[in-house]
Amino acid sequence: MVSAKVGHQETFHVLVISMANFHSVRESAGVEFSQVLMKQIVRELQGALKKIGLFSLAGDKLAVLVEQDPEKLEGVVRAVQGVLGEPMVLGDMNIQMEANLLQIDFPQEVATLEDVMDAVDYADSISFEDSDGHVHHGSAEILTRKRRESKVLQVMRKALARGTFEVYYQPIYSSSLERFHSAEALIRLRDEELGFISPEEFIPMAEKNGMILKIGEFVFRTVCEMMSREKIWEKGIEYIEVNLSVVQCMQEDICEMLYGIMDEYEVPYSAINLEVTETTIAREFLWNTMERMRVGGVTFSLDDYGTGYSNLTNILKYPFHIVKLDKSMVWYAMENDSAMRALRHTVAMIQDLSMHIVAEGVETVEQKRILQEMGCEYLQGYFFSKPVPEKEFLARLAG
Ligand code: C2E
Ligand code: MG
Ligand code: MG
Repeated sequence: MVSAKVGHQETFHVLVISMANFHSVRESAGVEFSQVLMKQIVRELQGALKKIGLFSLAGDKLAVLVEQDPEKLEGVVRAVQGVLGEPMVLGDMNIQMEANLLQIDFPQEVATLEDVMDAVDYADSISFEDSDGHVHHGSAEILTRKRRESKVLQVMRKALARGTFEVYYQPIYSSSLERFHSAEALIRLRDEELGFISPEEFIPMAEKNGMILKIGEFVFRTVCEMMSREKIWEKGIEYIEVNLSVVQCMQEDICEMLYGIMDEYEVPYSAINLEVTETTIAREFLWNTMERMRVGGVTFSLDDYGTGYSNLTNILKYPFHIVKLDKSMVWYAMENDSAMRALRHTVAMIQDLSMHIVAEGVETVEQKRILQEMGCEYLQGYFFSKPVPEKEFLARLAG
C-alpha cells in the first residue's frame, strides 16, 4: 500500500500510532487478552476513521495513511485521540492506552520508502523521549540521529562481546608534590567505520539500555588488573579515579561486585576513588553504597561540580573526599570576572569543608597559575596530559 503510493510519487502523511503501555498490558494480562484488546482498538479506530485506511504494523503499532490535506489530517488526529483518549472497556476492565502519534510527511520530510519504514520502526523511541500527547514529526534529522544511535549501539555490543573497549588514563597533577599523584580512568570506543566515538555520546545510551553495567565492570576490572600488575602505588600514583554511573549505583550488589574485583587483584581499597555525579546523589541508595565502600577505605569524588544544578547541600551531606570542578566552570571563570569570583569562593569553601579539589580542563600555563594561586591542589587537563593508553601512561610515570 505504502510502496504503491511511493511508487506513484504521491504525497501523503503516515500517522503512526504507537501504544507505549501495550507491552506492559501483555506482560500483566497475557497474550490472549492483549490480542482481544488490539482487535477492539482496531475496531473502534476503524469506526472513527470511517473510510480512511488503517494498517497494522510490526511491534503492535498501527498506521493511518492520509492524503496531504491539513484539515483531513487534523480530523484523523482528533478521531484517533478521541478513541484512545478514553479507556478501552473490555469486560469489566477499563484500560487507558498511552498512545503516541508520529507524523511522517512523504516526500517532504522523509524521501524514500526505506526512510518511511525506518521512521515507523523508530516510532517507539521517538515518541517515548517526550511523549506529551502531541503529534511528533518523523523528520530526516530525527532519522539520522536514530540511525546513528542504532549503529553506535551495534558497535557497543560488538565491543563488549570482543572485549575491544579500551581504558585510557588521564594523569592528575598535584600542585604540592609537583608531579602526577593520581589519574582518572576514561573509557574509549573506536570503530573501523565510525571512528572514535565519544563517551559523551555512548555512555548515556548504555545507561538507557543497561549495557553500562557490563561496561562499568569491564572498566573497573581493567583498572584493578593494571594497578595490581604494575603496583601503581609504588610509582607515585596514590589512587585511580573510576567513574561510576547512576545505573551502577542502583544495583543492590554493586558493593559486592567492586569489593570482589579489588580482592581478586589484591588492590588496596584506598587505591580506588569512585567518581559520582549529582544525578546519582539524587537517589537515596547512594548513601548506603558510599558507607559500605567507605568502611573499606574507598574514597569518593563529586564529579561535574559547577554544571547543571550543583547543590550546596550535596557536598555538606555526603562524605566526599574530593570535589571535581567541571571544566566548563573553570573555563567560564577565565573569561568572566563574576564567574572568577564565584570560582574563588567555591574553592575556598570546599577547602574550608576539608575536602580536596580537582580542577578539570586545565589547558594553558595561565590557567594552571590562576588555579594554583586560588589554592586548587589537584589539576587535570590537556596542559599536563590528554587521556592516554595504559602504556603511554606508565611511560609518563617512569619519565
Ligand atoms: P568526566 O568524568 O567529567 O571526565 C572528564 C572529561 O574531560 C573527559 O572526557 C576528559 O577527556 C575531558 N578533559 C579532561 N581534561 C580536558 C581538557 O583540558 N580539555 C578538554 N577539552 N577536555 C578535557 P571524556 O573522556 O570524553 O569523557 C566524557 C565523560 O564520559 C566523562 O566526563 C564521564 O562522565 C563519561 N565517562 C568516561 N569514561 C567513563 C566510564 O568508564 N564510566 C562512566 N560511567 N562514565 C564515563
Ligand atoms: Mg569523571
Ligand atoms: Mg568531570
